[in-house]
Amino acid sequence: MGKVMDVALNLYAILKKIREYETRYKRKANSVALLAVSKGQSLEKIKEAYNAGQRLFGENYLQEALEKQEKLLNVDIEWHYIGKIQSNKTKMIAEKFSWVHTVDRLKIAERLNAQRPQNLPPLNICIEVNLDEEASKSGVCPESLNEFAMELMQFDRLRLRGLMAIPKITYSMTEQRAAFMKLAGLQNNLIKQGLSLDTLSMGMSDDYEAAIACGSTIVRIGRALFGQRG
Ligand SMILES: *Cc1c(COP(=O)(O)O)cnc(C)c1O
Repeated sequence: MGKVMDVALNLYAILKKIREYETRYKRKANSVALLAVSKGQSLEKIKEAYNAGQRLFGENYLQEALEKQEKLLNVDIEWHYIGKIQSNKTKMIAEKFSWVHTVDRLKIAERLNAQRPQNLPPLNICIEVNLDEEASKSGVCPESLNEFAMELMQFDRLRLRGLMAIPKITYSMTEQRAAFMKLAGLQNNLIKQGLSLDTLSMGMSDDYEAAIACGSTIVRIGRALFGQRG
C-alpha cells in the first residue's frame, strides 16, 4: 500500500466492492458515489486516481486543498470540502468547492451563502450530525436537526442535499449499521417534513460496507485508496 502505482488498482478494487455491495444490499446500481479523500496525500497520487477515472475528491484542510487545486487547474475534478470550517475560511470554501459536507452552524451557513459567487451554481451542502452526541465532536445534535435544516431553507445560494456523519469507530458491523441506520432515519424524518434530500454522506475505509447497506449515497474513502497519510 502507498506506492503511486497502487492507487489505480486500489481504486478499481474499491469501485468493484461498492458495486458488489449495491447488489448485495439491494441498492440501485450506481447509486453510491466514491469520494476520494486526498488529505495528506501527494499530488502524484491524486493524479494517479484521476487518470484512472476518479473525479470526486475530498479535502479537510483549506490551505492544503488550495495548493493542490492550483496545481490541478485544467482538470474536471469536483472538489468536496469535508473538514472543520472556521468562519474566516468560508470565502475560499464558497469559491473553490462544489460541495461542503460539514455544515453545522447557522453563522457558517450565512457566510457561505453570502460568499458563494453569483456565476457558480448554488453550493451543495450536507449537515454534519453528531450521532453519538459526544461533546468533543462537531456536528448538530439529532434533537436540533429539524430546526437547523429548516433554517437553511432561507439561503438561496446553498442547496441542502442531505446529512453526513462520522460515527464512533467500531469494528462491529452491527454497531456500524446501528449508527448509519440512525442517520438514515433522521434523513427520512426530514424528507417527511417536505425537504427534498438525496444524499447520505456516510462510510469511510473501515465501514463503507455497513454504510452502503444502510443507504449511503457517498462513501468518503482515504486510506483504503491512497494508503496511509503522509
Ligand atoms: C479523513 C476523512 C475520511 C477518510 O477516512 P479514511 O479512514 O482514510 O477512509 C472521511 N471523511 C472525513 C470527514 C475525513 O476527515
